[in-house]
Amino acid sequence: MKYTSLALALILLTSVLTPAQARSILFQNASVIDGTGKPAFRGDVRIKDGKIAKIGKVKASKDDEVIDASGLVLAPGFIDIHNHSETGLLREGTAGNQVSQGITTLLVGPDGGSPWPLAEYFGKLDGKIAVNVGAFIGHAEVRSQILKEDYKRVATPEEIAAMAKLVEQAMNEGAFGLSSGLEYDVGFMATIEEMIELAKVAAKYKGIYMSHIRDEEEGFRAAMEEAIRIGKDAKLPVQISHIKMGNRNVWGKSAEAIALIEAAKKAGQDVTADAYPYTAWASTITVLVPSRKHEDRGEVEKGLANVGGPDKVLITSHAANRSYEMKNMAEIAASKNISPVDLYIEIVKNGGAGVVCNSMSEDDVKAFYQRPWIMVSSDGGIGSRHPRGTGTFTRVLGKFVRENKWLRLEEAIRKMTAMPAARLGIKDRGMIKKGMIADLVLFDANTVIDRATFAEPQNVSTGIRATFVNGRRVWNGQSITGETPGMVLRKK
Ligand SMILES: [Zn+2]
Repeated sequence: MKYTSLALALILLTSVLTPAQARSILFQNASVIDGTGKPAFRGDVRIKDGKIAKIGKVKASKDDEVIDASGLVLAPGFIDIHNHSETGLLREGTAGNQVSQGITTLLVGPDGGSPWPLAEYFGKLDGKIAVNVGAFIGHAEVRSQILKEDYKRVATPEEIAAMAKLVEQAMNEGAFGLSSGLEYDVGFMATIEEMIELAKVAAKYKGIYMSHIRDEEEGFRAAMEEAIRIGKDAKLPVQISHIKMGNRNVWGKSAEAIALIEAAKKAGQDVTADAYPYTAWASTITVLVPSRKHEDRGEVEKGLANVGGPDKVLITSHAANRSYEMKNMAEIAASKNISPVDLYIEIVKNGGAGVVCNSMSEDDVKAFYQRPWIMVSSDGGIGSRHPRGTGTFTRVLGKFVRENKWLRLEEAIRKMTAMPAARLGIKDRGMIKKGMIADLVLFDANTVIDRATFAEPQNVSTGIRATFVNGRRVWNGQSITGETPGMVLRKK
């Protein structure tokens, strides 16, 4: 191309830019919380071309769209390291219940379950999403690829080698690490050797090992030790997913879990965790009976007692009988005149169910949230039947920070931004700093709160005034804008 035609092309290109695209945005007089944990400061922030261009005292220019941020907090957009929006994003790329709580980046593929192949999945998202999306490669996904339906057994060395190849492919396609869900059926029979072999592949690509551990109840110590040992032997960082004391028998033992992890850190290992801000977990009904003896009445009875009784177990989905949905097991059993144990056996026989189980203690949740190495994650996503899908980040800000005063606002923001970014090795997001990508959230710290409940899990939060992804507004405080500036993030 000759210089003249190049110049002409440039002129044409500039002239087709709409004013909205060409303009910068200036947030004036905001309380800026930069994500590092440092105290908030009053200042102005200009974003331009998708990046943070200027911070401090900034005079408005004619190109600026000025946003008066007096009385509001400007923070980096929230990064959710454990999100189940895999299929939700394909249905609803604008991700209303995510951006309305300030999420700008989310990681799919946790708990061992991920899309496959990742490259193909990423291709379906390009240009159609409001949030940035990264992925883990799921252990259960690769295990099912190799063992098919025959997964209730130990894998052979040849099969493990075949799984390792799939993990390698996914790491090459940009996965941030290997996730596992060893409490679930497909992962349950995996040996620690299998996990170490696969984690070694993730380590080669500087990924992390992120695990929904084998047991979150009475066996939590062994399960945590297993995760830590996988990290040690495969030489990679470990992230314990949604750390919790899952039932009454282990209430108050968060101190032991914390001590165990802090000892590993002291010994030089890189171990962190994340937690969602609720005392109820959501999973499949069969995790209530860890022995897998789903027709053994004694085991079922024990399982129900361990969580505090059948009234603590809410059925959220049961395809074989929709009339059970959103009722607890005590209610359903009473209405059918059968025992809760019989009801459990019937439900499992008819394909199982999704459950929400209110079996944690708030003191343990608080103890975990106060540790500096625990970040915020939702374990929810688009269409989630648990309120955490829509309310996680705003609940931490409104309930844990403002109402309960469990942690400083700046520390809570760090757990949502710079900390998960560092965990994932994302260097250009998660902080308000000149040159960083403009993923931002503007909110009112005095009113921000979750409104999603177990009865109405889709109620959006209040107090998030605006959410920006790659410099573009995706949430305006009332509704989505319809913009889809989100990008697929690949591990570099
Ligand atoms: Zn999980």
